[in-house]
Amino acid sequence: MKSIIAAAAALMLTGGVFAQDTFEIEPAQAATADVLVNQALDSDLAWSVVESLTTEVGPRLAGSEAEARARAWGEALGNSLNFDRVAVENFTMPFWDRGELEISMTAPYNLALHGAALGGSGRSPRLGAINSDVVYFRNVAALMAVADGSLEGKIAFVDGDPLVATQTGAGYGPANQRRRIGWQHAERAGADAIVVRSVGSDHHRNPHTGMISSRDGEWARIPVIAISNPDADQLRRLHENGTPLAMHIRSTAGWHGEVTSGNVVMDIVGSELPDEIVLIGGHLDSWDIGTGAIDDGAGIAISVAAAELIARLPERPRRTIRVVMFGAEEVGLLGARAYAEQHADELPNHVLATESDFGAGRIWQFVSNVDAAANPAIDAIGRVMAPLGILRGGNEDGESGPDIIPMAMNGVPTVGLSQDGMDYFNLHHTPDDTLDKIDPDALAQNVAAYVALVYLAANMDVDFRTPAEASDVEENAAEQ
Ligand code: ZN
Ligand code: ZN
Repeated sequence: MKSIIAAAAALMLTGGVFAQDTFEIEPAQAATADVLVNQALDSDLAWSVVESLTTEVGPRLAGSEAEARARAWGEALGNSLNFDRVAVENFTMPFWDRGELEISMTAPYNLALHGAALGGSGRSPRLGAINSDVVYFRNVAALMAVADGSLEGKIAFVDGDPLVATQTGAGYGPANQRRRIGWQHAERAGADAIVVRSVGSDHHRNPHTGMISSRDGEWARIPVIAISNPDADQLRRLHENGTPLAMHIRSTAGWHGEVTSGNVVMDIVGSELPDEIVLIGGHLDSWDIGTGAIDDGAGIAISVAAAELIARLPERPRRTIRVVMFGAEEVGLLGARAYAEQHADELPNHVLATESDFGAGRIWQFVSNVDAAANPAIDAIGRVMAPLGILRGGNEDGESGPDIIPMAMNGVPTVGLSQDGMDYFNLHHTPDDTLDKIDPDALAQNVAAYVALVYLAANMDVDFRTPAEASDVEENAAEQ
């Protein structure tokens, strides 16, 4: 019964029963959108942007001097293009860096392991080395069952199942638990260090870094290291042969007090409704072991290029288009949280928001989370994107990028342009996240989709926001 009600509600929300089925984009706007799409497909602007960022700035660890250089780069870029105002908005954050790492298997024989400290990792004691026997755990659930104090003087190694590569990235969340919370159980059990199988779908000898989760604001006191999948395979085979394992670890990772980070905010000011904002963006920081091309130089490049093509039109759009280069995403969405706080008064004027942060693969789907009454207009934008090979996904289905979460939680409508993620977790957070992994044609397809979306959203006479009363009605309906 419930599913019938849900199906009927979904039909109503998608306009099947009450709302008008079709929304006609004004012919002049549709024509301009087509011109912009074709310009985007022919343009190498996004490629130039990501090439410049990854080559001239390089890796951009959150809170580092490199991230500061990236902000200066972003500000200069915005000023060299046709944006009307460019601002750097600072915030403070705690700074962690990985320092130096030695990691090797020392029994049954010596083998250098390819590892990387995870963000938030502690260091080895007094900067000395740990030389300890290894206790093998088949997965993080096995580690979570370990008794308090039972790993004293040991190194915990947490294996796991392969990260299943999918178009949507659905395999990441489950696989990521060992990276995020494994250390909390290793530390509770008294281990000297924890080593985890990298959260990645590749079979190269690359470690995948990434942040651990804090425990109520507390970070790991012990080293927390990810090793490459082939190294983890080797340890598993030895363990399954009944061979005792030992490791050597020396890590100088740790925290270094409060530093300044920031967001770069670049506006094309609307001609009729300058206070209403259509926001797109990516994150400027990257992990430091690659050059942050797919994560997330591509998202920065796609956003800047789409906005710049619109800024080159003879007339400004009706609404303001805002590109945000978020700082410090990798270490906990710190730039996104700072943006939502610093712009709290303005959030009700954000009519639509989205972020590109899933690599540089082709976009295959367009999802949204907008007011039901605006859904026919979103469907119409979807029809403009259809020739680019993009399916219209559902409304109330809005994966819209991590840095959009704090805004979405404050009621900002969102859309998402889903990129093909089949190879994303081969490269994600590895030394292999470099410019050559980006396909220029796929990058241009991304810009084409964004330029259509942003141009139309900024010009259509449609409000994507949900009036307060309407959301109450929906909530009551959902409860029945
Ligand atoms: Zn990212
Ligand atoms: Zn990332």
